[in-house]
Amino acid sequence: MTPEQLLTRPDTALPTLRGPVAGLPSYVPGRRGAGAGIAALASNESHYEPLPAAAAAVADAAGRMNRYPDMAAVELRERLATHLGVTAGEVAVGPGSVGVLQQIITGLCDAGDEVVFAWRSFEAYPILVELAGARPVRIPLDEAEGHDLDAMAAAVTDRTKVILLCTPNNPTGVPISHDRVEAFLQAVPSKVLVVIDEAYVEYADAGSGPDSLALYRRYPNVCLRTFSKAYGLAGLRVGYAIATPAIAEGLRRTALPFAVSALAQKAAVASLDAEEEMAARVAAVRQERARMAAELAAQGWKLQPSQGNFLWIRADEDLRARLVDAFDAAGILVRAYQGDGVRITVADSASNNRVLRLLAANAA
Ligand SMILES: *Cc1c(COP(=O)(O)O)cnc(C)c1O
Repeated sequence: MTPEQLLTRPDTALPTLRGPVAGLPSYVPGRRGAGAGIAALASNESHYEPLPAAAAAVADAAGRMNRYPDMAAVELRERLATHLGVTAGEVAVGPGSVGVLQQIITGLCDAGDEVVFAWRSFEAYPILVELAGARPVRIPLDEAEGHDLDAMAAAVTDRTKVILLCTPNNPTGVPISHDRVEAFLQAVPSKVLVVIDEAYVEYADAGSGPDSLALYRRYPNVCLRTFSKAYGLAGLRVGYAIATPAIAEGLRRTALPFAVSALAQKAAVASLDAEEEMAARVAAVRQERARMAAELAAQGWKLQPSQGNFLWIRADEDLRARLVDAFDAAGILVRAYQGDGVRITVADSASNNRVLRLLAANAA
């Protein structure tokens, strides 16, 4: 309180945040930057400009932003349903897949319920869980930087409501195979909702990860996807879940009203129509990923193969600090995780070459 406020108030008690909120780790966004010489490789964004059709759809929709968007996102949900071979009733959209995930967790978890996920994985997971008053249960990754599904299944208790599988995993890039996901779905109690977060699925080699839609037809798991990464719409905030009609309906009911803007809905529809252009861009990134992986192996780095648009360097504190200093000095923004390692987004070949040169100079 300021002295003036104290003078006019008889008490000094201040409004307080609820416990879980006060104790939350704050989300650390990928470092941002722009301008000559800066390579923004910290947030796994697409380095391409928006697809022309998406940009045109946004420009067109901008003339109507005095109006609320379609709250039910009917056109987008119908377009997604056709695209994926489900019904519109099985689709729920939200402001980014993080927004949809928040709806899932708050829709299913009471205070004290548990959400199991691998760690290290996507940093938003523990934040969303704690915000809901639920308890995060982190299961360490296995030696190959992948999900330890046996340990995750063993961690299920009567309080477990949701399990998050991230494939390919952010930040390690390691996928979970179809057979392993299916065995997991068979092993966990059917009342536990298994969410398969596939933010990077477009970048994965065919067959490297689960056919989550095929699994969805046989188990009531949720597929969570986004337009933020391969489709290049990170700034517009739109993601979606494929879920059983009952869960999808619940998600639509728990949604913040009008959270997905008309601009985002139109751009997402246009992006689905521009599938071939998107696929060509993704192919170029995958080719760069393979080139970098081969060159880094030749430099002596021992990395797990990544199925995302990023590479993961496991690093102790010494190496991490050394790499962070070197990347900082070079104007290359990457994502460093204390005690774990460094994640670098694969982008255009010029930026990738800068990364390769820097890592060659810092190879063990
Ligand atoms: C980037 C990312 C998301 C996507 O978030 P949006 O809210 O859709 O932008 C979801 N999950 C993982 C694992 C991610 O890395």
